Formats: sequence, structure tokens, C-alpha cells
Amino acid sequence: MLGNSFLNNIGGELKLSFSGEEFEKYNPADQNQLIGKFQKSNIEDLEEAVKIAKIAFKTWKNTPAPQRAEILYKAAEITSAEKNKLAEILTQETGKPLIEALGEIQEVIDTYLFFAGEGRRLYGMTGQSELYNKSIITIRQPIGICGLISAWNFPSAVPSWKIAPALISGNVIILKPSEKAPLSGYLLIENLYKAGLPKGCASIIFGYGDLGQAMAEHDDIKVISLTGSTTIGKKVSEICGAKLKKCALELGGKNAIVALEDANQALLLEGILWGAFGTAGQRCTSTSRLILQKSDWNKSFIEKLIKAANNLKIGNGLNQVNQIGPLISAEHREKVNDFVSRAVKDGAKLICGGQKLESGDLKNGYFYAPTILTDVKPEMEIAKQEVFGPVLSIIEVNSFEEAIEIANNTDYGLSLAIYTQNINLAMQSTNQLEAGLTYINAPTIGAECGGASAFGGWKNTGNGSREGGILALDTYTQYKTIYLDYSEKLQKAQID
Ligand code: NDP
Repeated sequence: MLGNSFLNNIGGELKLSFSGEEFEKYNPADQNQLIGKFQKSNIEDLEEAVKIAKIAFKTWKNTPAPQRAEILYKAAEITSAEKNKLAEILTQETGKPLIEALGEIQEVIDTYLFFAGEGRRLYGMTGQSELYNKSIITIRQPIGICGLISAWNFPSAVPSWKIAPALISGNVIILKPSEKAPLSGYLLIENLYKAGLPKGCASIIFGYGDLGQAMAEHDDIKVISLTGSTTIGKKVSEICGAKLKKCALELGGKNAIVALEDANQALLLEGILWGAFGTAGQRCTSTSRLILQKSDWNKSFIEKLIKAANNLKIGNGLNQVNQIGPLISAEHREKVNDFVSRAVKDGAKLICGGQKLESGDLKNGYFYAPTILTDVKPEMEIAKQEVFGPVLSIIEVNSFEEAIEIANNTDYGLSLAIYTQNINLAMQSTNQLEAGLTYINAPTIGAECGGASAFGGWKNTGNGSREGGILALDTYTQYKTIYLDYSEKLQKAQID
């Protein structure tokens, strides 16, 4: 399959782009391995997808939700059966280690199963009327065509977070994956059709940012759900704002672990390694800062951390000994390296990594050494901006209060964690940390899919929408309140 030409899937039919052009995608761990050629779609392709989606919506929105759920159950089953194959493709597309890719495919399965269950709930509300013989019911209704625009770092899980709640609620979808990881999304849509999704309900069109922008601008696309950078999120938000279009934004982060002086050091060490260097730091929730309360163990702990970071196995994710894969592109690796160089110029001390890895088995990929900087001050660029690479900045503080203040000292608000044995301080931190996700004695990564899970951020990380749990339904539904008057007379609210 890898190396093939992949066509757009417009409502279940494979189509060449009207542009007649393709783009190529290579494995970031091995730039000689072609993942595939993908259609470079344009507005005409989008128009075709919209036309088909409009027709499909008329039937899908009226299909009983438990029947819609059957498709998601079946898609979960197919995904489960293909888990290994899908994970291997995902590893080659993004570079992430196979164990992480397997986890990501499991997340797709969990997401489908969770939202399939909603097919028998999709609860609204009932309320009491102020008048006799009258009832009030508020229900959720679908909105229409949803434009789903996703980032490259979770090209299976993140689209599934959007697809499942959108479809179960009776909407139809058009997915534009990142051009840096298009194949995983293609396979998601293919499997939905294998699961019996009626023609027209889902499309995937490949392309670049201009296509995403065209989706935001399109009047027949009623919802935009975007996962990406804050810069692009702001642009999309402006377009949607001018059109009063519903828009859900899941954007960048500048996440931190706060480690207090009574932290369990062994647990902390493991948590930092996973949070900062897992997925090569390319998670929106990656631990980018360690805010360390000064204590007599700091020096020896940092030494242990350097040793452990240097021992991490780096290489092609298909080889299961490797724990860290490459960065997604040469350009992105330059960006990460530039951040580190500027941090050093700003006065940070480079104590581990800080270089591209280009020799031996790593020469064909975009590998970067796990990097640790100390002497980082809260006002430095490296302490405030998202790096999106395996780079940890250590900021030392004197107290719990100072740690909280610095943790909050960023424009982002996605994920913050605290390590302490002190239950009171742990609970106080959950009140004070300014982030959509907070963890106690666990790193900043590791969100789950389920009823109470609500993935999303505060401040410049988003606009209040949530994914991964029941609250995701708010993006893809609109409320309708139905008044039932069985009094057989005219009753006037607020007057009678
Ligand atoms: P980008 O913002 O560059 O791209 C995100 C998506 O938007 C891509 O599909 C991109 O297409 C598309 N796009 C680009 N320009 C426009 C435009 N003008 N209008 C509409 N769509 C456009 O992000 P990355 O793909 O580089 O992903 C990394 C970012 O995503 C990080 O900041 C990370 O923190 C964030 N992220 C957030 C998550 C969250 O849930 N909060 C989860 C995962 C990642 P193309 O790439 O083809 O140009």
C-alpha cells in the first residue's frame, strides 16, 4: 500500500483532484521512503464534496441515532482487527514509535465505542413549565456539514475525536488532514465506509492550508473543528466569526510539571521522560517546562535526568527498541534547533542534547537529541513559546506560590501537572492552575476518552470547545427547545 497514489474519497467514491496535481509524503524517519502521493485538492474538489454531503445530510440526520451508532460499533471492530497494520502505517507516516502508534489506534477504537454508546443517549433536558398542562423539552439536533481540519501529530486519534461525535449526532463530515500526515485519515474514512456508512456522509480531501481556509469560508459548511497551531486557529476563528459559524479550536500548549520538594523523585523522573520526550515532544500536551522547587536533591536529580535522557533509544519507530522517533520534517527540526540556540543566547544553559542526530542509522531522518536547558528564566522565549520538540526547560523556584505563578505565566493553557505528596497543596493547585487539563503525580500527557474526560485548553489554547468526552457533542449539536401545551387554551407565559 505504501508508495501508492491516494485519491480523494468524496462521499465514498475515489476521485482525482480537478487540479490534476499531487503532492508526495515521505517517512520522517527515512526520507527515502515514500508514504504515498496524494491529490492536491482545490476549491472544485471541495465544492463536489459539499454537494454530495448536502444530499447525504437529508437522510443521515433523520436516521435513528442507534442505527447511526451501529456504523461506529462496526468501524471500531474493523479498526480493532486492523490495529497492527494501521499502527505500522501511522509509525511510518509520523515517525512515532510503534507502541505509541498502537496506543493511538486504540484511542480511535475507544472513541468510536464511546460515541456509539451516545447513539442510545444523546441526552437533552426536560424542565418544568410555569403554566398548567405544559411541558418543556430541550433536545440536541445536528447542524449540517462539519469541516474537520486536523494537525499531523495525531493523524488518527484527533480526526476520530471529531468524526465520531459529528456522525453520531447526525451531521456529515469533510475531513482535511494535514498534508504532513494524510494517509491515516484516509484509512479512517475508508473503514467508515467498510463499516456501512451511507454514501456521502464522509469525505476526505487532501491539500494544504488554502483548502482548510476555503472550508472555513464555505457558507454550506456549518461547523469548523480545527486542531492546529494558535496562529492558524486565530485566522480560522476570524473567518468563522465574521460568518457567525460555529468553530471549535484545539491549539498549542506550553505545558509544565511543577515538582515540589516532597515529590516522589523516581515517579517524577519517569513522568518527565515520558512527558517531555515521548512522541519526540510533538504533542500539544508535551511537558515543555519543569518548574522545580529548590531543595537539596535538585542537583543529583538533574544529573539522573540527564543520564536517563541520554540513555533513551532514538531511531526508526518500527524497531521496537527505539523510544523516540524523528521530528516531522527538516523544516520543523530547524525550528526546534533555532529555539534552543536562541535560548542559549538568552542565558539558558544547555546541559543535554541540543543537536540534530545525523549519523549512522539516523542519517536519513529528522532526529533530534532529547534536550535539557537549565537556568531558564520565566520571561525567556523558551519559557513561554511552544517548541513542539524534545526540549525541556528547567526553571527553579523557591515556593509553591512561585511555582504556580510561573506555571500560569504563559499565553497557553492546555496541560499542567504537579508532583507532591502533600494532598492540600495538590488540591490547591487544581484550583489555581490555569489550564484545561491538570494532573496530580502524573505528567502533562495522557488524556483519555470517556464520559467525564474533556480535552481542551484555556487561554490561547482554544475557544472553550472540548473533545474526547461527552462535552464534544456541544460542538456538533444545536439545541432546540420544544414547548408542549396540552391545556387546550391560550396560556400566556409571564402573564397568566
Ligand atoms: P498548523 O496550524 O500548521 O496546521 C493545522 C491544520 O490547519 C493543518 O491541516 C493545516 O494544513 C491547516 N491549515 C493551515 N493553514 C490554514 C488556514 N489558513 N486555514 C485553515 N486551515 C489551515 O498545525 P500543525 O499541523 O503544525 O500541528 C501542530 C500544532 O497543533 C501545534 O501547535 C500543536 O500544539 C497543535 N495541536 C493541538 C492539539 C490540541 O488538541 N490542543 C492536538 C494536537 C496538536 P497543512 O498542514 O496541510 O498546511
